[in-house]
Amino acid sequence: MKMGLCSFCLKSGILCQKCLAKLKSGEVSETDLRVARLLLSLEEKFPSLQNVYFHKTIEADRTLAIVVGPGDVPRLLGYGGKIVKTLSQETGKSIRILENGVDNRKFLEDLFAPLSIMTINTIWLPDGSTETRVILGKKRGAHSSLDVKALKEIASKVRNITLRVEFAD
Ligand SMILES: [Zn+2]
Repeated sequence: MKMGLCSFCLKSGILCQKCLAKLKSGEVSETDLRVARLLLSLEEKFPSLQNVYFHKTIEADRTLAIVVGPGDVPRLLGYGGKIVKTLSQETGKSIRILENGVDNRKFLEDLFAPLSIMTINTIWLPDGSTETRVILGKKRGAHSSLDVKALKEIASKVRNITLRVEFAD
């Protein structure tokens, strides 16, 4: 796993001045550090993690989104979901894996997985601002584990978009 901190610091847990400065400035958060070290400790068991670029984590309530490099989502979702399950157990949060630098559709697909996205469109409000309306297909049982309010907050923090979420009848 690669990230903005040196791998030596990440492995040892003792940060050099440069890495410490990133932590102090908020460029890297305590949660980022914790999750990055967790991912690193899982590399031996799940070798696909070696090629993952870790950007950052975004928290909203009990949901924790992990933002990784383009194409990295399958590397974290493989192994029958065991990596995500372990992350969820260790952090006590519901985990979402998102990719950096993708278009809105791909971002929303990852955000709401395993629900399918039926429609995405932009709604213009009278004040000139916009909302992104997402209509999700139903999948039995999948609903309950997704905290829509937290996911809307994550969308706002990661991409600066306001979501309006609806479910298909
Ligand atoms: Zn360092």
